[in-house]
Amino acid sequence: MNITANSVWTNCLKFVKDNIQPQAYKTWFEPIQAVKLTDKSLSVQVPSKFFYEWLEEHYVKLLKVALRKELGEDAKLVYIIKMENTFGNTEPFTEKIPSSNNNPTNSQNVTTSINKKIPQLRNPFIIPGIQNVKIESQLNPNYTFENFLEGDSNRLARNAGIAVSNKPGGTSFNPLLIFGGVGLGKTHLAHSIGIDIKEKYPERTVLYITAEKFTQQYIEAIKKNNRNDFIHFYQIIDVLIVDDVQFLSGKSGTQDVFFHIFNHLHQNGKQVILTSDKAPVDMQDIELRLLSRFKWGLSAELQNPDFETRVSILNNKLYRDGVTMSEEVIDYVAKNIKTNVRELEGAIISLIAQASFNRKEITISLAKEIVEKFVKNTKREVSIDYIQKTVSDYFQMEVSTLQSKTRKRHIVQARQLAMFFAKKFTKASLASIGSQIGKRDHATVLHACKTVDNLSSTDKQFRKYVEDLGKKLSI
Ligand code: ADP
Ligand code: MG
Repeated sequence: MNITANSVWTNCLKFVKDNIQPQAYKTWFEPIQAVKLTDKSLSVQVPSKFFYEWLEEHYVKLLKVALRKELGEDAKLVYIIKMENTFGNTEPFTEKIPSSNNNPTNSQNVTTSINKKIPQLRNPFIIPGIQNVKIESQLNPNYTFENFLEGDSNRLARNAGIAVSNKPGGTSFNPLLIFGGVGLGKTHLAHSIGIDIKEKYPERTVLYITAEKFTQQYIEAIKKNNRNDFIHFYQIIDVLIVDDVQFLSGKSGTQDVFFHIFNHLHQNGKQVILTSDKAPVDMQDIELRLLSRFKWGLSAELQNPDFETRVSILNNKLYRDGVTMSEEVIDYVAKNIKTNVRELEGAIISLIAQASFNRKEITISLAKEIVEKFVKNTKREVSIDYIQKTVSDYFQMEVSTLQSKTRKRHIVQARQLAMFFAKKFTKASLASIGSQIGKRDHATVLHACKTVDNLSSTDKQFRKYVEDLGKKLSI
């Protein structure tokens, strides 16, 4: 009798397949991979957190029955989420994930939390003789350039990424800093570069790590008194990818060590790739000397994808999943989810799933239902365009007037208010706000924010404007 993770999972799948719709099976079960079987505990890898939540919500009972048939009453299921900053790194989600364990009736034995014992980035510091150690790159094979569709919103960043992967360390894009809002593809693009480099230069050591994980490792290293080993480990990397460097804000010890590693790599012609949710000018509590390093290479922004790009992202996703949908539905989804590619994908997955559960056709009205839920759930971010329009309407002027170069006081005030609210209600950088509101620079936006703050505490009329507009914009 030879039971492996795969054999157990294959049997579970047979059972699942007999009990659900084919399309749901294809969408939710085919992408799962069995990873490991230890005693009564089966670890499976799922492509995203959304996926995990979906399985938990809809299939936990079915999975439990299937797994118990194979492994008996003590069977446990452990999910590994293969994506983003959880990739090769399991701790941050352990608390966040609402585990069905909380509900004693439906879950006694199905462990649905992410297990800390799952293989992680091998603790590098205890391995001597570093030169011969094969370092696992921690790259997600799905995040390729091929799957990262090009559009105006990402052309610069994507092409800079390609240039870097053609000649790692050999372009002026060192470091390459990719920045932009949540869900716009920073992590995906960073992985693509790593994957491409590994293909072209198999002998180079590539490492992807989140700044958060880097920080944890550093703290561990300090505790164990091996700061030098830590530094040494990172100094032998050829291509270092650090995701979400904004996480280093205010952490001066980690910044300090990163500064040393960075300098060493840079001096030796090694490539550094960073991502951040902010432009360098907007990064706070990052030491100046480190910040200046970030500015040495190229900062490339990922902006919100335009409509065409959103449509092609959706089509590509559907194509890869082998699902078809009417153009009308795709258009509808693309028109209504604008600021976040992750949500765009999430909505389409829900749509496929809904249709298959209820054996409904994927119609516009189903799309509306789902998009509405999505948009509601994810606290809509107002756009800078909408803010400018609202402020202009309030002062009964045209948007073009608000954006114009005039110094007339009431127009200047309206413009400053628009900037102030853009800073307050969107995640856009000062520079990006400035460029969208009349092509001003980031200093002007900063000044506007300060002026509005000052005026609203000294000028009663002005405070009324701020309150009125704040109300209009926050619904
Ligand atoms: P971020 O790190 O900026 O928050 P991610 O890289 O995690 O965003 O991207 C969120 C999701 O959107 C991922 O599933 C990613 O594959 C997808 N995505 C983002 N941009 C694109 C694109 N241009 N083409 C295809 N998929 C994209
Ligand atoms: Mg990310």
